[in-house]
Amino acid sequence: MIKKITLIAGARPNFIKIAPIVHALKKSGKIAYRLVHTGQHFDEKMSHTFFTQLHIPEPDVNLNCGGGSQAEQTAAIMVAFEKELLANPTDLVLVVGDVTSTMACSIVAKKLNIKVAHVEAGIRSYDMAMPEEINRLVTDAITDYFFTTTTWASENLKKAGVFDDQIFFVGNVMIDTLLSKREQFVQPGFWNDFNLEPKKYFVLTLHRPANVDSAENLLVLLKEITSNVNGLPVLFPIHPRTAKVLMESHFTSNNLRIIEPLGYLEFNYLVENALCVITDSGGITEETTVMGIPCMTLRDNTERPETIELGTNELLGTNPQAIAPALKTLFDQQWKKGSIPELWDGKAAERIVTVLENL
Ligand code: UDP
Repeated sequence: MIKKITLIAGARPNFIKIAPIVHALKKSGKIAYRLVHTGQHFDEKMSHTFFTQLHIPEPDVNLNCGGGSQAEQTAAIMVAFEKELLANPTDLVLVVGDVTSTMACSIVAKKLNIKVAHVEAGIRSYDMAMPEEINRLVTDAITDYFFTTTTWASENLKKAGVFDDQIFFVGNVMIDTLLSKREQFVQPGFWNDFNLEPKKYFVLTLHRPANVDSAENLLVLLKEITSNVNGLPVLFPIHPRTAKVLMESHFTSNNLRIIEPLGYLEFNYLVENALCVITDSGGITEETTVMGIPCMTLRDNTERPETIELGTNELLGTNPQAIAPALKTLFDQQWKKGSIPELWDGKAAERIVTVLENL
C-alpha cells in the first residue's frame, strides 16, 4: 500500500501537470505527499507565477538545479535528488511529462529501489534528435506504473513489453488544469495597448532547438509568418532559450509583438481569443484542441497525433515554405474544426489518485 509519495516538478509544463494531482491528493487525503521542485526552470515568469496562479503549495524542497548543459543538469538533479530521497524516504516517486527532471528523478528512484509512476507515459515522436524523446524512452524503460493520455500511448507501451496491469489510461492532467481554470483566464494588461480584438491576432510560441538554436532559421520563420498574416498582430511570448538567440539578431517587423513569457491565465486568455496559434510546443497543441482554436505546429513530427487526427492541429514541418499555404487555408475559413479526445474531461488527476490509493 502506498502511504507517502514524492512528486517531482521541474519545468513550466510540469507545473501545469502536477497542479491537479496535488489538488486531487489533498482532496482525498489518503496519501501523504512531498513536493520536490528540481529548479530546472527557476525564474518568476517560468516558475513562480504558476505556483501562485494554479494554487500549487510551496514545494517542500527546491533542489536549485537550474542551468547547464543536458548532462550537467541531469547530473546535478540526480546528485541532489538522491540526497533528498535518502533524507526523506517515500513509497513512490511520481514524475510527469518529458523534461530532464522527469528522467533524472526516475533513474535515482529506481536505483534506490523505489517504485516510479509516470504521468503522460507512452507518447512517442520517434525523433531521437529531441531531448524530450530520450527522456520519455529512459523514463518509460524503468517506470512501474504508467498513466496514459490516449489509448495510442497505452498501445506503444504494450508493444515495448509493458504488462497490461501496469498501464492506466486516465486522460490528460494538462486538460484538468485548463478546464478548471478556463473561467478564470485573465486579459493581459497589454490588450488595449496593442489594440487587440478577439479573433484578429495570432499567438506564436517557439522554443525547440530545431527552430530556435540557429538565428538564421528563426529569422526565416518569423519573416514568413509575419508577412503572411494579412497584417494582423502576432503575439510572441518569448521563451528564455529563444530570447537569447533573438536578442543578438535585432529582427523587427511591424506586426510582431515580442513579449515576456506570460502567466498561465493570461496566456490561455490570449489563446482562447486568438484567430490561430502557431507553435512548436506539445502541450499547447492539446490546449488548442480542447478550446477548438486552429493550431499550426512547426515541427516534422509529434508525440501527440490525436491533436491532428481529432483536434485542430496540423503539422506544417520545419520548412518555412509550408507556412503561407496553411495561412491561406485559415483565411479562406477552411481550417478543420476538430473534436476532443477521449477522457480529456478534467478528471484525469482524480483517476490517478484512485489508482494510487488501490495499488
Ligand atoms: N504557457 C504559459 N505561458 C506562456 C507560454 C506557455 O503559461 O507564455 C503554458 C501553456 O499554456 C502550456 C505550457 O505552458 O500549458 C506549455 O509549455 P511549453 O510550451 O514550455 O512546453 P511543452 O508543452 O512544449 O513541453
